[in-house]
Amino acid sequence: MFNALLIEKDDDGQHVAIQSLSDDRLPEGDVTVSVDCSTLNYKDALAITGKGPVVKQFPMVPGIDLAGTVEHSDTDAFKPGDAVLLNGWGVGEKHWGGLAEKARLKSDWLIPLPDAFSARQAMAIGTAGYTAMLCVMALERHGLTPDQGDILVTGANGGVGSYAIALLARLGFKVVASTGRPQEADYLRDLGATTIIDRQELSEPGKPLASPCWAGAVDSVGSHTLANVLAATQYGGTVAACGLAQGMDLPATVAPFILRGVTLAGVDSVMRPKADRIEAWRRLGELVSAKEIDAITRAIPLEDAVETAEQLLIGEVRGRVVVTLR
Ligand code: NDP
Repeated sequence: MFNALLIEKDDDGQHVAIQSLSDDRLPEGDVTVSVDCSTLNYKDALAITGKGPVVKQFPMVPGIDLAGTVEHSDTDAFKPGDAVLLNGWGVGEKHWGGLAEKARLKSDWLIPLPDAFSARQAMAIGTAGYTAMLCVMALERHGLTPDQGDILVTGANGGVGSYAIALLARLGFKVVASTGRPQEADYLRDLGATTIIDRQELSEPGKPLASPCWAGAVDSVGSHTLANVLAATQYGGTVAACGLAQGMDLPATVAPFILRGVTLAGVDSVMRPKADRIEAWRRLGELVSAKEIDAITRAIPLEDAVETAEQLLIGEVRGRVVVTLR
């Protein structure tokens, strides 16, 4: 038997509770993992609260990230005792995920836990930190260097935002952090932000083009914010877009693209090929210190996951939350 957070749905709606389940309830897969830690991402919070259509079939164990130890393997790729990591691939959406003491998964989805991190540290980074790394790699791929100007990070206090600030600062960029929580300015400065702006400056409908303010951006907010970020990006700049915390819409014009040669680089972490994942985690190992991980993260037991998911969606969670399973 193992404990799992289970989301069930009936005529009265969605119900979430910790349940003790037998191993024969686990889905199909060639590797069974004893889960050490999982995390709460924005997507997990949407799944747990039912506030977004994340869960594609019920019952579902949420949790798009997990780190643990292989218990049983039907493939040569992994053997019992191996430390493994999983981010995305529809786990926690279409296939039972990480908010459980045990998971059965496809071996293709797993990568070895990077040497640089413990299971807890890898989950403190989680999909949010790994996506921030993918965003930074997208900016680099488009030729952005620190001498070209400031880089804006929106949703600064969130998981993606916090890691984007830390990574960019470590790489020598001057980082402007956009936040709705100016009271967290010290936290953002400690991560490496040099300037803090109020997110309201970006969240209302704006002009097609504005004075150029930054060479590039990591945007986890979408909607009017992303439109205004593009409008204020300098000639030849790049904006990596990965999120929709303000909204799924993009009420923009083509002006930044055709008049300033701005690039909008979309970033997806879920279906990312394995080689990119391994490279992103290798870079994270080089760039993120244990001290930064601790500053960004707090740990909770599985019992607190539902309450914390609700807080996360109303913007009351700073940084990252690790869910400890063992
Ligand atoms: P968090 O909830 O940790 O952070 C989101 C942050 O966005 C908040 O902390 C807040 O920052 C800001 N925010 C929240 N609501 C609004 C709003 N209405 N208007 C403007 N800003 C707002 O989430 P994550 O960092 O985990 O994820 C951020 C986004 O990225 C989500 O939309 C998520 O779905 C997406 N994502 C996408 C991935 C991909 O593969 N493309 C992978 C991971 C995440 P502050 O308080 O500082 O203003």
